[in-house]
Amino acid sequence: MNILVTGGAGFLGSNLCARLVKNSQDHIYCLDNLQTGRMENIAELMDRPNFTFIRHDIVEPIDLEVDQIYNAACPASPPAYQADPVHTMKTSVLGILNMLELAKKYDATLLQFSTSEVYGDALQHPQREDYWGNVNPDGIRSCYDEGKRAAETLCFDYHRMYGTKIKVIRIFNTFGPKMNPADGRVISNFVNQALRGEDITVYGDGNQTRSFCYVDDLIEGIVRMMASPDEVTGPVNLGNPEEFTINEMAEQVKAQIGSASKIVHLPLPKDDPKQRRPDITRAWELLGWKPQVPVHEGLTRVIEYYHRLMA
Ligand code: UDP
Repeated sequence: MNILVTGGAGFLGSNLCARLVKNSQDHIYCLDNLQTGRMENIAELMDRPNFTFIRHDIVEPIDLEVDQIYNAACPASPPAYQADPVHTMKTSVLGILNMLELAKKYDATLLQFSTSEVYGDALQHPQREDYWGNVNPDGIRSCYDEGKRAAETLCFDYHRMYGTKIKVIRIFNTFGPKMNPADGRVISNFVNQALRGEDITVYGDGNQTRSFCYVDDLIEGIVRMMASPDEVTGPVNLGNPEEFTINEMAEQVKAQIGSASKIVHLPLPKDDPKQRRPDITRAWELLGWKPQVPVHEGLTRVIEYYHRLMA
């Protein structure tokens, strides 16, 4: 099979490419505009005969004869997607249009990387797929949240109008190797701050919660979703239901590293969701999937990874 991974040099895309190239019968086309993706994430894959890197922005159309498309392209860290909000919206909306046209043309299956952000500052807890969300359409997170919501709509409209084979997953907070240390998200920030002995920066009072999935678990769920029967379109939540306050995560990272860093509080960014935890019943029923790696074990692995990068 010919498999396209957009955003293939990013955190999730590169972990997915590393998994997919292991099947030597498949050819992996890794597409990235390198806005937040990094060549070092795919350096180990570049000399594989079944791996091709193409520098391209999915905002522009592309023609590639493919059987499967994983659409992972979009900056996902709040500072990164807020740096150029207009381009973030274009990436989600024009990007998915271009990918859906490709899927339609070649009768390929498209798997869309959607997000727990479609639930916004959720009023239902934990979040189930049938919850419609509580999203500010005009705030600083809207370019990402509303872009991803519009992308889901386009997936289901192509499916209803043209019979395009689509699959939508909603990804909750994920961490692991290959996330840029300067990405700006909470675990990469805390681990790198604690390793350097710098202050650990908790935003707001730190009582907001998130649930963190180790990347290998997430990739397993994604691959299972792609392999599921055509009628399984989703949306399906993928994430680890173990919930932490940000204060607890700061303490845990500090303790696991044995760091002398101070925990300090900075202002809470606007529209920061207060509580987030996935209900993963659907993923279990449809895919037989649930996370296997406990958070403390995932943290050990990611601490090792960032420690090696510093050396
Ligand atoms: N956060 C924090 N310190 C940081 C980075 C993030 O306290 O250095 C908080 C952030 O305000 C949010 C949570 O951690 O409440 C998760 O933030 P992240 O950017 O990782 O993901 P998202 O907000 O998209 O879930």
